[in-house]
Amino acid sequence: MIIFQKTLRNSISCTGVGVHSGNVVNMTLKPAAAGTGIVFRRLDVAPEVSEIPALYNTVSELVMCTTIANAANVKVATIEHLMAAFSGSGIDNAIVELDGPEVPVMDGSAAPFIFLIECADIIEQELPRQYIKVLKEIEARDGDAAAILSPGDNVSIAFEIAFDNQRIGRQSCSFNMRNGTFKNELSRARTFGFLGELEQLKSMGLAKGGSLENAIVLSGEEVLNEEGLRYQDEFVRHKALDAVGDLYLAGAPIIGQFHGYRSGHALNNKLLHAFLSDENAWCYTSEAPVRASNVGGAYWPEQKAAAPITA
Ligand SMILES: [Zn+2]
Repeated sequence: MIIFQKTLRNSISCTGVGVHSGNVVNMTLKPAAAGTGIVFRRLDVAPEVSEIPALYNTVSELVMCTTIANAANVKVATIEHLMAAFSGSGIDNAIVELDGPEVPVMDGSAAPFIFLIECADIIEQELPRQYIKVLKEIEARDGDAAAILSPGDNVSIAFEIAFDNQRIGRQSCSFNMRNGTFKNELSRARTFGFLGELEQLKSMGLAKGGSLENAIVLSGEEVLNEEGLRYQDEFVRHKALDAVGDLYLAGAPIIGQFHGYRSGHALNNKLLHAFLSDENAWCYTSEAPVRASNVGGAYWPEQKAAAPITA
């Protein structure tokens, strides 16, 4: 089965705070031609150096967030949750315009970006979507943390975390990415941090925009956010959301199984480098996964045609 590439029907804008700079950023998501991929464009620099493709090999820094840079060292930080939203909505091609060096953090999850994409609407394009199919298992390790890609007929994401903090503790989750899975199960999970760390970062001039508005903040084992958690296991779901965004830097959806154990942006990126540099580990295919026909996307025409479920 062939699935065609998708982009946004309309442009859509939002304004928010950059979590690291603390500055207000204006962002516009725009349609892009088939074959473009996801490209970030800085409006506050010279046009000839303004574009940065969102790819695993344009990643320049992985401390706290994922930052990409071009040859002129023009950067965009904190792209991971927006990348996850593009992946989860089945968007292959888009231009992301920003008037600053950082994607707005919004509420610390991918849900506001999913909302923007839904408002802009999605259209099918003329070229078939290319997938990257995993042919053999590849693993990246760092101490007792691991990130693994292995062959499979669908797109699946499994994640496990283990924290000494009792409020988080051990959590695991596993999802077969199908229609609506990302939106329903992962998109609302927020990033999290500890109050002590946040205060330390702020004293170093980092995380200036970090607050209870855009993260779950723990003080010891207490969640400080008045509204509590959005999912009982919101912590591990956020790590799975991050992995979805990190893996989309491969430049195409990956057919196979991802398993992260205490992994993060840096290890996920190391995995992509090891995976994509091994020519026996993968191949391109335009044959969509067998069952997850609309991998990660909530907008597939056949879904609309499905018969309503009656009791
Ligand atoms: Zn995150």
